[in-house]
Amino acid sequence: MLRTHTCGELRIDNVGEEVILTGWVQRLRDKGGMLWIDLRDRYGITQLSFEEGLTPEALLNQARELGREFVIRVVGKVIERESKNDKIPTGAIELKVTKLEVLNAAKLPPFMIEDETDGGDDLRMKYRYLDLRRNPVRRNLELRHRVMRETRNYLDGLYFIEVETPVLIKSTPEGARDFVVPSRMNPGEFYALPQSPQTFKQLLMVSGFDKYYQIVKCFRDEDLRADRQPEFTQIDCELSFVTQEDILNTFEGLIHHLFQKVKGVNLPKMPRMTYADAMRLYGSDKPDTRFGMQFVELNSLVKNKGFKVFDDAELIVGINATGAASYTRKQLDELTDFVKRPQIGATGLVYARVNEDGSVKSSVDKFYAPEDLAEWAAAFNAKPGDLLLVLAGGKDKTRKALNELRLEMGTRLGLRDKDTFSALWVVDFPLLEWDEEMGRFHAMHHPFTSPKPEDLELIDDRPSDIRANAYDMVINGVEVGGGSIRIHDRRLQEQMFRLLGFSNDEAKAQFGFLMEAFEYGAPPHGGIAFGFDRLCSIFGGSDSIRDYIAFPKNNSGRDVMIDAPSPISDAQLDELHIKMRNITAPEKK
Ligand code: ASP
Repeated sequence: MLRTHTCGELRIDNVGEEVILTGWVQRLRDKGGMLWIDLRDRYGITQLSFEEGLTPEALLNQARELGREFVIRVVGKVIERESKNDKIPTGAIELKVTKLEVLNAAKLPPFMIEDETDGGDDLRMKYRYLDLRRNPVRRNLELRHRVMRETRNYLDGLYFIEVETPVLIKSTPEGARDFVVPSRMNPGEFYALPQSPQTFKQLLMVSGFDKYYQIVKCFRDEDLRADRQPEFTQIDCELSFVTQEDILNTFEGLIHHLFQKVKGVNLPKMPRMTYADAMRLYGSDKPDTRFGMQFVELNSLVKNKGFKVFDDAELIVGINATGAASYTRKQLDELTDFVKRPQIGATGLVYARVNEDGSVKSSVDKFYAPEDLAEWAAAFNAKPGDLLLVLAGGKDKTRKALNELRLEMGTRLGLRDKDTFSALWVVDFPLLEWDEEMGRFHAMHHPFTSPKPEDLELIDDRPSDIRANAYDMVINGVEVGGGSIRIHDRRLQEQMFRLLGFSNDEAKAQFGFLMEAFEYGAPPHGGIAFGFDRLCSIFGGSDSIRDYIAFPKNNSGRDVMIDAPSPISDAQLDELHIKMRNITAPEKK
């Protein structure tokens, strides 16, 4: 190698050794008589020193001509530093340089390659390769690497086998839009990029692979948010001859292992919560259980007292924001505005403060006597100093709105600490979801999920009440993984497709291969997939999965560094048998 050591390696024990280092010039300090350079590589920083009088003139001049981010190679002797820097592991020594070679000059970088940089988001994305030189960004990728390695360690230990599945496939209906790729050799036909390897991993079970996993890229053409990227990575798993219980235990084990190895955190056993309870108590199928503030339903307490809003409501439900009675009028108005925003859609907010003397003062005192309000407080188990926040309206909408308000209050009251971890399983999801717009059912998880056998009798009369053998793992309010026990019987799978509005021909055209495979000895099987980038962001304590992806896309789905997507030549289009309509390229964002 061009070097004998890395820039993070030398210690006081190395004093006296002659060594060779390579790296980037992070900083240069010229004090006239002395000149220091911080030399950086992936492993750390080592200080180089040059001294007038002792360092040959030519070498000193050579050093003075270096600029930030020049790539250099130096030969020198390790000496003890006079003023030590206890903030870095190499801070006790420096290198007295005897020879310097510039391996490559560098233009001045467009932003500071420091932990705190002056570069804005767009600039750092355009020069992502420079951003990746910065410690915090590099550390995120190191974390990702450790999560990946430990995932493989754990699953290998359980005899899982990693099998790669194809990337050019036919669309699988996971609910999102497919990215498609035109086929040159098959005019007018397209591949789709996998939204997940779902059908392939099921076929691998038919093949007898028994325990499969894959850390795999998946593609979904959806609108982007902080926790979504058009291409993302899953830990995708499937097992044969297992019950739901086996799967929950195996993968709770995986997450325990990762927390232990990557974070040094021992997570407690994960509680299980039914979907119905999650909706009733938190208004969400991914409740943030780092804090309580569970929903309390008030229908039986508050109706028929002359308050029309409550009388007309399907559901009156609230939360106890403990200790928030001191909220000012202005703060309460802010909360009212918050719930009335169109995205949340509540019509108003009722509040009640529990005073120090135990009396309750509400925004609807006109309708409710002090004894009534005392009953409210009791229902919430509220103490002096607490603030009750109540919403009313249609059941689903009101629960959804109160979920948002609960999360907002959790944030405001500092209850959502990123170093606290609360994980749980949400189980017993409904099999189907009614799509108002399309006027038909969708599979809530995907069409291969099996119904609970005991609910099958509801199939004709109350299909929306059928529960599935489907489960999600939720950590701190983020759905990190989800899966199900699958259907492995052709007839049941056909019945499911019918329920989802597929004609026999459509089902056959799309999934004939899977249903045929079910006729050749398909074992009972089930699986799960974890969002790998999301897991990393939870371990790293960031809300954005982008921070854990080496080369992510921006909010418009663009890679601004390589400038993709981009137009292709007419010749390429011709070859692909594609005629472009008059499209004006959108302005680049
Ligand atoms: N394929 C599913 C998904 O991507 C996961 C599973 O059911 O295993 O959500």
